[in-house]
Amino acid sequence: MNKQDISSIKKLFSTPKKIVIVTHKNPDGDAIGSSLGLFHYLMKGRHQVHVLTPNDSPSFLKWIPGNETILKYDSQKTTCDSLINEAEIIFTLDFNAFHRTGDMETVLSDSKALKIMIDHHQAPDNYATYTYSDVTMSSTCEMIYHYIDILGDSNLIENNIATSLYVGIMTDTGSFRFPCTTSKTHQIIASLIEKGANNSDIHNQVYDSNSYESLQLLGCALSNLKVISESKTAYITLTQNELNKFNYKKGDTEGVVNYCLSLEGIKLAAIFIEDKQEGIIKISLRSKGDFSVNEMSRAHFEGGGHTNAAGGKSHLSLDKTVEKFISILPSYNKALNND
Ligand code: 5GP
Ligand code: MN
Repeated sequence: MNKQDISSIKKLFSTPKKIVIVTHKNPDGDAIGSSLGLFHYLMKGRHQVHVLTPNDSPSFLKWIPGNETILKYDSQKTTCDSLINEAEIIFTLDFNAFHRTGDMETVLSDSKALKIMIDHHQAPDNYATYTYSDVTMSSTCEMIYHYIDILGDSNLIENNIATSLYVGIMTDTGSFRFPCTTSKTHQIIASLIEKGANNSDIHNQVYDSNSYESLQLLGCALSNLKVISESKTAYITLTQNELNKFNYKKGDTEGVVNYCLSLEGIKLAAIFIEDKQEGIIKISLRSKGDFSVNEMSRAHFEGGGHTNAAGGKSHLSLDKTVEKFISILPSYNKALNND
């Protein structure tokens, strides 16, 4: 966004508008945090604002202020469709292409509303009137902070905005340890704490909400972990039966893939999770250094994301998906062993 865009946006929001905020399917901490942070900010104007998600979020995000107002497309389609059709402005947050919203793709691409994209994923589609895309940013939440600041409104950031934005910065940076964490990220975090975000409480709400069964499922996942040393790779599989056995709930496998990367010398990590309902294997890929799992996922697993964190899927069986993964690894051995 240039100076011209900023003054146009200021003008645009100077009168009340019907606004919809949407984010990606299976929303994570950054998706919900950025949507609710922006929601609380926009609600300070005289706008009508609704947050819509394609489906539900994990329970460890449900305490975020304003979460109870979120409408879910999979269970409230008619209401969501009319809100999208009537919207004058649609913010699309934390995704780079409409297909990332699952079943909302058609109604969003058909909508005549002015679109504002705020996102940090690589290769953004060109559908928005205003595209604020920055792949160097830790999180969309960090970008919402900048967005509010650029518009000269950082004085409006209070407890609810600060808490929401803190969540997404914390989750997308792996609690401030991934390379995307900069000194600016820490300055923003400091400012959010000053404005009312309770860092310790937020951490407890998000990370210390395991159930006995989710820990047992983690144990199962860790006992399935395999290492392919010549490719500096570790991966985990979870079958639908294993998920059922431990009474799997949305969010229970969040972050499990990172255990692979905690092994000394491992540069590439993957988790393959069977989803019988959707008929797919859900894949999460993570890496260390400059090995791009975004490119790997785009090339082989119908997905994408960032250099060090990407998602994808496979329509093969779990075994065949793992076979495919193992078979493509040799072509990456050079990149994985280049240190
Ligand atoms: P996760 O493995 O946690 O599902 O996703 C890791 C990162 O990649 C997140 O930032 C997520 O938004 C992104 N991501 C997941 N799936 C896709 C996909 O299919 N396409 C793109 N472009 N990004 C994805
Ligand atoms: Mn994000």
